[in-house]
Amino acid sequence: MQIFKSPFFRKIFLLLAFVTFIGFGMLTLWVSSSVKSSFRATQLKALEDVKNQYRTSLLGWLSEKQKNIQGLAKMLAYTLEIDPSLLRAFREVYPEYADILVLDKEGRLNINSGSVPLKRGMDLSDRDYFKVAIGGKAFISGFFRGRSRGLATLSISAPVIKSDKPEQVVAGFITLQKFLEIFSAEAKRSDTPLPILSIHFINTKGQVISDPAYIERYPKDPNIEEDPVFLSNSPAVMRLMNRIEGSLVYSYQGRGFYGAFSWIEPLQIGLILEADQEVLERSLDFQLRSLIIVSTFVFLILVGILVFVLWYLSKPLAQLNHAMKQLIQEGPKGTMIFKKTGSQVDRLVDTFNQLQQAVDQRETQLKDRAARDPLTGLYNHGTLEDLLQKEYARRKRSGKPLCFLMADIDHFKDINDNYGHAAGDHVLREVSRILETCVREGDIVARYGGEEFAILVDSDKPEVSLALAERIRSRIESHPFIVEGKRIPITVSVGWACVAPNKVSCCTDIVKEADDFLYRAKEAGRNKVFGQANIT
Ligand code: GH3
Ligand code: MG
Ligand code: MG
Repeated sequence: MQIFKSPFFRKIFLLLAFVTFIGFGMLTLWVSSSVKSSFRATQLKALEDVKNQYRTSLLGWLSEKQKNIQGLAKMLAYTLEIDPSLLRAFREVYPEYADILVLDKEGRLNINSGSVPLKRGMDLSDRDYFKVAIGGKAFISGFFRGRSRGLATLSISAPVIKSDKPEQVVAGFITLQKFLEIFSAEAKRSDTPLPILSIHFINTKGQVISDPAYIERYPKDPNIEEDPVFLSNSPAVMRLMNRIEGSLVYSYQGRGFYGAFSWIEPLQIGLILEADQEVLERSLDFQLRSLIIVSTFVFLILVGILVFVLWYLSKPLAQLNHAMKQLIQEGPKGTMIFKKTGSQVDRLVDTFNQLQQAVDQRETQLKDRAARDPLTGLYNHGTLEDLLQKEYARRKRSGKPLCFLMADIDHFKDINDNYGHAAGDHVLREVSRILETCVREGDIVARYGGEEFAILVDSDKPEVSLALAERIRSRIESHPFIVEGKRIPITVSVGWACVAPNKVSCCTDIVKEADDFLYRAKEAGRNKVFGQANIT
């Protein structure tokens, strides 16, 4: 492109394009990062809401379980002999209980209703659920290893109070597996605005106890709680280990997550809800990509506008440069027409046009001055010759006669001699003015030299030349020339000739012809007109 050839415009273009690029880049980055962070904040807030809702329902469930067991304990308080069918009926209503145990005051098993019948009289007095409940308080334990089947189990116990004294303890057991079944179903049920990927529970050691492999291996592996395989060091787990609750975006094992987490104090377990970052941010990524595409597009449009503006401004400058070169080489060409740009360039163009006019005027003035005789202001000899040559050529083409006339002041030397050179100059000027009044428009009057004048007549008719010659002679004769306060007589002798251009070789012949007649006028006594038409 033409404008890129100019280092100035190249620099301006690069600078502006660079600034626009940086500006747009920064704007796009800023917009995308703020869109991203506000998106994340909103999503995390939503996830945290879901987690809180989930946590509340979990705690609600726990207190409901506690009420079940307390209700059962109340019922047992009015029973003398415990009927096993009562416990069975209870488990039918609440099938989540793996077992229900009734212990006596000493912690010995009275009755159980699980699938595995336990030995009556078995000593369970060391168990927390017994110790707390026999003290008169309801109790919820964290998960522990169940004695009969070795399953991870939680227990809910309550005292059976007879006559204001705890006489027995009733304890219900729910396995970790059951608990997870209930809460994964709960998660599916809960009406979440987010695509929840997974729900995890961790124990106090940081093991993921919701891992199916953990539940599977638990009964067979008494040392499972020491197995590092189940440990997680995801940022959410690390926070929960420090009992910090909240939500954040993190990556773990090469995947991105949105996570919200809470510590469930009664069960001594941590709850983590995770959503897949990729799924969640899919729409955001689309928006950001669109933003980048749109801003790239706008950037390109801006660069296009920039190129256009630079081109728009540089075009008249290039034209101006060309016009200036022309002015230098060929002289003024008249007003240059440029399209207005509405910028400073317009003023430059105006000034250039003024400069051109000024040069033109000055040149015309100089040419005119060079073409004229300084004393009389008439055309000089040189100009006359040029004009005569042109006219000759023209007449030669048309075949029309060329008429030429010469006038010489009679005894002019005497004026100089008698009154001085200044008086002579004065007379020369006066005669020149009279000659100018005698001719018609189109006739050319020149000072041929000294006190001799020549007229190129703009007519091919001899009678016009004769009349003009006579008019000159008589006007000068009758004109009052005043020198030193006195009128002095001035006359001229005039010779004229009208010649067909094919009769003469060039202009000098015509001058000579007129000059011959002038000579004859002089000889005839001066103040005379002599001439002839040589046109046939
Ligand atoms: P004739 O009637 O035969 O033409 O006589 P003349 O005296 O006019 O002619 P001549 O050729 O003898 O004299 C011309 C004089 O004109 C001589 C010269 O000094 C004078 N002259 C020529 N140019 C100028 C001029 O520019 N100013 C003045 N004051 N005199 C000039
Ligand atoms: Mg003379
Ligand atoms: Mg003379």
